[in-house]
Parts: sequence; C-alpha cells; structure tokens
Amino acid sequence: MLQRTFSIIKPDATERNLEGAILDRIQKTGLRVVAMKKIRLTREQAEGFYHVHKERPFFGSLVEFMCSGPVVCSVLEGEDAVTKYRELMGATNPANAAEGTLRKDFAVNLEANSVHGSDAPETAAFEISYFFNALEMIG
Ligand code: GDP
Repeated sequence: MLQRTFSIIKPDATERNLEGAILDRIQKTGLRVVAMKKIRLTREQAEGFYHVHKERPFFGSLVEFMCSGPVVCSVLEGEDAVTKYRELMGATNPANAAEGTLRKDFAVNLEANSVHGSDAPETAAFEISYFFNALEMIG
C-alpha cells in the first residue's frame, strides 16, 4: 500500500553534518522524498509536536534538545512507508538498535537519537499536517 510518513533529522545529526548520509540511506530503501525543509523549531512548536509525551519526565529535556539546532523535516512516500522507515531507524535507544539501522550507526544516546519517524499512519497524518500543507508535497 502506497503510504506517507513523516521524518525528522534531529539536531544531533544536523550538528554533525549527517543530513546527506541519512537521506542516502532513506532513499536506498526506495522511499521517495515528497516534501522537505530545514527549520529551527521554537519551543512552542516542539511542545506541540511532542504533546503526547507532555506528562513524561523527559519532556522538558526532549523539547530543549529538539530546539537546540536545526532539523530537517520531510515527508516520505512508498510501500508501507511507516513500517519501512521505522525499521530503518531502529530502536529508540541506540544501545538496543539492530545492526544496519540509522540509530545504531548515528545516534549519540537515547535522547539524541538522530531521527524521528511516525509510529502509525494516524500519527503520520497529524505530523505531516503539522509541518506541511498540500501544496508543499509533490507526490
Ligand atoms: P521514538 O518513536 O522511537 O522516537 O520514541 P518515543 O516516541 O518513545 O520518544 C520520543 C523521543 O523522546 C525519542 O526519540 C527520544 O529522542 C526521546 N526519549 C524517549 N525516551 C526517553 C528517555 O527515557 N529519556 C530521554 N531523555 N529522552 C527520551
């Protein structure tokens, strides 16, 4: 099923100039980039994006981290894009991430784990619309 998912290359990765390396790995899976922008999140934008985590003890630290530098937001399209990209990303904690995953290869630690990807199609719909409008996606 052709599907879209939402990706962020996080500040720890943009800081180390890894955008190209990560996008190369994404594109090698066959996923296509249908929208992309590099931005610096405000605190309010980061809080809104991660609102599902607002009761978690790490929420403040996560928001601070996501605002600490630029991020690259993109919409990826392909067969089973949500699952395919989650598999490429690997486990949240790089210590548990499988060989060959982005987090195994690039993440610094549990928080600074280099990439975000939607965890379900419904989440993807919210996250895509949070950052992009229909005119900004070229399918
Ligand atoms: P994901 O879907 O794999 O990104 O994981 P979650 O939705 O559970 O968490 C969102 C993000 O919060 C993760 O990607 C990490 O950047 C961060 N995070 C998750 N768990 C922790 C934690 O226990 N401590 C800290 N500091 N950050 C965390």
